[in-house]
Amino acid sequence: MPELRKDPIVGRWVIIATERGKRPSDFKPDVEDNTKDGCPFCEGNESKTPPEIFAIRNPNSQANSPGWDVRVVPNKFPALRIEGEMEKMGVGIYDRMNGIGAHEVIIETPEHDKKMEMHSIEGLAKVFEAYRVRVKDLENDQRFRYILIFKNEGVSSGATLAHPHSQLIATPVTPKRVKEELEGSQQYYEYKDRCVFCDVLKEEQRQKVRVVYENEHFLSFCPFASRFPFEVMILPKRHDPDFHAIMPNEILGFSDAMRVTLAKLAKSLNNPQYNYIIHTSPVRWKRRGYWTTIDQDYHWHVEIMPRLTKVAGFEWGTGFYINPTIPEEAAKYLQEAEV
Ligand SMILES: [Zn+2]
Ligand SMILES: [Zn+2]
Ligand SMILES: [Zn+2]
Repeated sequence: MPELRKDPIVGRWVIIATERGKRPSDFKPDVEDNTKDGCPFCEGNESKTPPEIFAIRNPNSQANSPGWDVRVVPNKFPALRIEGEMEKMGVGIYDRMNGIGAHEVIIETPEHDKKMEMHSIEGLAKVFEAYRVRVKDLENDQRFRYILIFKNEGVSSGATLAHPHSQLIATPVTPKRVKEELEGSQQYYEYKDRCVFCDVLKEEQRQKVRVVYENEHFLSFCPFASRFPFEVMILPKRHDPDFHAIMPNEILGFSDAMRVTLAKLAKSLNNPQYNYIIHTSPVRWKRRGYWTTIDQDYHWHVEIMPRLTKVAGFEWGTGFYINPTIPEEAAKYLQEAEV
């Protein structure tokens, strides 16, 4: 059973994934397994994954057999486990709990080499529809406080399998990074009575110098204080704290914004490895001292981080990032890239 341990100084939870049980000799440099042979995510190899939780598939096809567009399966090597109770407890001055959570894999396509930007808008919309369905379903589990969807593209971004996939992890605590955003948005709202993300959206539309792409429902831009070169944020124009409240026509707009942005990054930076995350609001079961103005002050979004630089000592020691590319120049470059 994995375990969650809380750092008593900064209040950050860490997952100690006991069952992976790595010893020093197990930490070899990552090698991506890029071969189609025996790829568990390719069509026809459905039996190589745990049984599917959800799929968008041809109505005439059977679960766990070919005929699907998107499949969601439990992670074979989960960081957190779905079964069991949390058993929160103190050990001396420390806090720990069982590593309860959900860890799912969203297989984006039956085709081994079809990268995200190679989908049609409608095809990509199916991937995001799968995200939406899974987040909505997991929100019913009262043990979970946060559900993060993320993608690691390429070996140095953390991917171990080349077949296009994203992941979802539901955690029984609100992660520290998310809490920082929630607290920042809440403070801004208290002071100005406005959503900080809505204000950023309007300011970026007004200044125009960091815009990468815009459609009816979404704005894609390089953040003013980007941490990484060519970092991009995608913001929905309609204020909503919850990703899973996205409407059908907005999913198409979202697919278009993601596809164009990723294609521009791929073209400008020669298929960089990257991570993206979807930041949505935490699960809002009423709890003591919980967020009260979140419906007004938080706004879901995507952060895309190409892996062009390495986080090093100064960043680890300070939380400061040194970004060698001016965000306005990155945006201009991306905006002009024809895709
Ligand atoms: Zn494959
Ligand atoms: Zn907003
Ligand atoms: Zn965020």
